[in-house]
Amino acid sequence: MAKTIAIVNQKGGVGKTTTAVNLAAALGLQKQKVLMVDIDPQGNCTSGFGIEKQNLEISSYEMLELVDIPERQTRLKKALADVKENYDYILLDCPPSLGLITLNALTASDTFLVPIQCEYYALEGLSQLLNTVKTIKRLYNPSIDLEGVVLTMFDNRLNLTQQVVAEVKKYFPNKVFETAIPRNVRLSSPLRENLSRRTRKGE
Ligand code: ATP
Ligand code: MG
Repeated sequence: MAKTIAIVNQKGGVGKTTTAVNLAAALGLQKQKVLMVDIDPQGNCTSGFGIEKQNLEISSYEMLELVDIPERQTRLKKALADVKENYDYILLDCPPSLGLITLNALTASDTFLVPIQCEYYALEGLSQLLNTVKTIKRLYNPSIDLEGVVLTMFDNRLNLTQQVVAEVKKYFPNKVFETAIPRNVRLSSPLRENLSRRTRKGE
């Protein structure tokens, strides 16, 4: 039975998709069966895997058409229930918002993983995220737990980075992964390589 992890932070551009794509690849290398679900309408994760979005006949968009559906928060959970036993991990790449799509992800997940960019305002909005999780926990998913916090775009040469790390560790005691992801242009290679491949192909 798969463990489902929502990769979530309503702040944009903090490394959710990069974390999702690389975590999926790393788990795959360890022979784990991974289902990567791109529930962000931006579709970066899909592109990150080299999939041409415009050629897809059906996507998570159809499954999540959320307008006027009763029990709108549990739609993803129900869809994943059918396939959960086929995988070891299900990763959900969330959009940068706390809207209904993210609520669906939090309702469907065993844990949530929060990438935090080592930048100004890193912690801004996090209390809102944690309050949202609290509500989801109370109403739909009592067992959801914080998987951990992963620091992204870490640059040890900057004083700011040290300050952000200290603040995040204070905010999430014992929940910050020891390994921080360095700021590294090549790290975002799945996305970038696809882009440059497309550019080379003239798309
Ligand atoms: P969104 O909120 O829009 O979905 P996101 O949180 O998924 O964004 P990413 O798309 O993973 O964030 O990353 C944002 C940008 O930062 C991308 O251009 C990505 O290539 C780049 N990036 C991510 N991680 C790193 C890193 N460790 N070093 C350098 N660049 C990175
Ligand atoms: Mg993203």
